[in-house]
Order: sequence, then C-alpha cells, then structure tokens
Amino acid sequence: MFQALLLTKTDDGKTQAAVTPLDDDRLPPGEVLVQVSHSTLNYKDGLAITGRAPVVRTWPMVPGIDFAGTVLESSDARYAPGDGVLLNGWGVGETHWGGLAQKARVKADWLLPLPAGMTAAQAMAIGTAGYTAMLCLMALERQGVTPERGPVLVTGANGGVGSIAIALLARRGFTVHASTGRLHEAEHLKALGAAELIDRTSLAAPGKPLQKERWAAAIDSVGSHTLANVCASVQYGGVVAACGLAQGMDFPATVAPFILRGVTLAGVDSVMAPHARRAEAWSRLATELPAELLRANTEHVALADAPAVAERLLAGQVRGRVVVDLPPAG
Ligand code: NDP
Repeated sequence: MFQALLLTKTDDGKTQAAVTPLDDDRLPPGEVLVQVSHSTLNYKDGLAITGRAPVVRTWPMVPGIDFAGTVLESSDARYAPGDGVLLNGWGVGETHWGGLAQKARVKADWLLPLPAGMTAAQAMAIGTAGYTAMLCLMALERQGVTPERGPVLVTGANGGVGSIAIALLARRGFTVHASTGRLHEAEHLKALGAAELIDRTSLAAPGKPLQKERWAAAIDSVGSHTLANVCASVQYGGVVAACGLAQGMDFPATVAPFILRGVTLAGVDSVMAPHARRAEAWSRLATELPAELLRANTEHVALADAPAVAERLLAGQVRGRVVVDLPPAG
C-alpha cells in the first residue's frame, strides 16, 4: 500500500482531490518502480488539482508532473534498486500517474539519474519550473545572447520559473530586471540576483507595437499582453524565450518587432524536450545553483497540504518553489 493524492471527477464534472491509500497493483505499467521522496507543485499541478484547466486526460489521476526518489524495482538494465532518479514531463501527472504519491511506476526512458552532487530534495527545489528556466537560458544562449548585450528581463519573477531564471541569469553575469506584482518581495528578488525591479502592471495592458528598446533579451512565463509588450520593448536583434501563460494564453501582438527589429521569439517546451537537452539542462542545474539559494527559495509541505497550496499557487501567493515531502510507505 502507498498514499497518493488521487484526483477523481464528480458527476457534475468537478475535480476532487483526496489523499487515498492505494494498492501497488493499481500503479500503471512501466519498467521502473520508484519510491518517491519528493515531488513538487508547479503551475500545471495547480491547474490539475483544482480542475481549473483540463490538464488531466485520464481518470482517476495521481497528479504531479515531476518527482525524485529511489528505484525500488527495475526491469530495465539502465536502473537498479537504490539508484537516485528524477523525472519531469512526458505527460506524467496528466496521462500517466504522477509524483504526488509515495510510489510511481514509469517508463525507464522518462527517467534521468540524479545528477552527481544533487539530492532528491534539491532536484525538486528546482523541479520542472527550474529546469524550464534553464531551457529558456539555453534558448537565449543558442541565439547568441551574452551579458555584454545589455539587461535581460524576467517576468513572473516570484514564480517558480521566474525566481530560478533570475538566479541562473545573474550567475552567468547577466544584469537581470525582474517584473513582478509583488514589489514587497524586493529583498528576496535582489538576493536571487535581480538588479532592478519593474511593476508588472506596466507590462500587463495593451501597448504600442514598437516601444522604447529596453532589454537585450527576456524570459517570459506570463504570456498575453505582457509577452506582446516585452517583444515590443527588446532591443534590435533581441531574443525572447516564451514558456508560460500565467497572465493568459493569448498573444495580442503585431509582427512589427520581428520584421522591423529582427526580434526572435523562441518557444520553450519542457514536457517533450529531447533526452539530450534534458540531460544537459539538469547537469548544468547541478553546478549553477548554490544549495543555500535553493533553500531560501523553497517551501516544504506535506501531501495533505497540496490542495490548499495549489489554490495559493494559482492565486499568485506562493513565492518561489513548493516541494512536497513524501515519507516512505509504511
Ligand atoms: P508560478 O505560479 O510559480 O509563477 C507564476 C508567476 O507569474 C507568479 O508567481 C506571478 O509572479 C506571475 N503572475 C501570476 N499571475 C499573473 C498575472 N495575471 N499577470 C502577470 N503575472 C502573473 O508558476 P510557474 O513558475 O510554475 O510557471 C509559470 C508559467 O510557466 C505557467 O504558465 C506554467 O504553465 C508555465 N510553464 C511552462 C512550461 C513549459 O514547458 N513551457 C514548464 C513550466 C511552467 P509575481 O507575483 O512575481 O508577479
């Protein structure tokens, strides 16, 4: 038996979330059985647990798009009992039971060994959000963005993606401007590495197609008018990595920044990112983020707290990352 957060759908289409004891034989098929020690709450988990968006594709579902833990059983030669592993994406927590449980059974192809020097708790303090922040940084680098070009904007600064993006950029020598709705968190954002803070309301409303050139590049987890204004405000030849929709999924922009300033909009997907790119991202995350910074940016909660914290997350009241600690099944 193991404990899991189980999502069920009521007759009137509402999502219900309850910590539920389950038999191991209810786990979905897969080559590797993992004792999950840490999972997290990402924005997508918040949507799944509250039913706010149709993230869950099969019912009932154990949510949790990422987890870290120890292999219990494996029929795949790449993994053996006792190995430390992590997983993010591949539809886990959406179409295949996920990490918000003491045990998970998954395909070996979806797992990565825990990078050397990284604990399971640290891996999940980074989680999908931090790994996506690294994919965004790598996208900027592929387009030739360097610190000498000028400041880089991060939107959704207090969120999981935003907070880790600030830390990663600052440690690579970039001057980071952080856009946030929570200016009272200035001290935390500056400790992460932000040089300047911007009130997010200045980017949230419809704006002109071309605006003053302010940033060399940007990492945007917000979408909607914010993304449109960011594209309109990056310098000639600038690059915007777009990964999120915290403000909205719409993109009410013109082509002006692309055809008149040669701006590049780089889309970033973490879920189906190829294995080699994931491995590179995680191995860089193991060396580019100090443990102390991760501790200061992370809140630890119990599985039973996940539904309440999911509401706080979607209300924009969580700062940084949330790790769900899972004691071993009894
Ligand atoms: P969080 O909830 O942790 O962070 C989102 C942040 O966005 C908030 O903390 C807040 O920051 C800001 N925000 C919230 N609501 C609004 C709003 N209405 N207008 C403007 N800003 C807002 O989420 P994550 O960091 O986990 O994820 C961020 C986004 O990235 C989500 O949309 C998520 O779905 C997406 N994502 C996409 C991935 C991919 O593969 N492409 C992978 C991971 C995440 P502040 O208070 O500082 O303003």
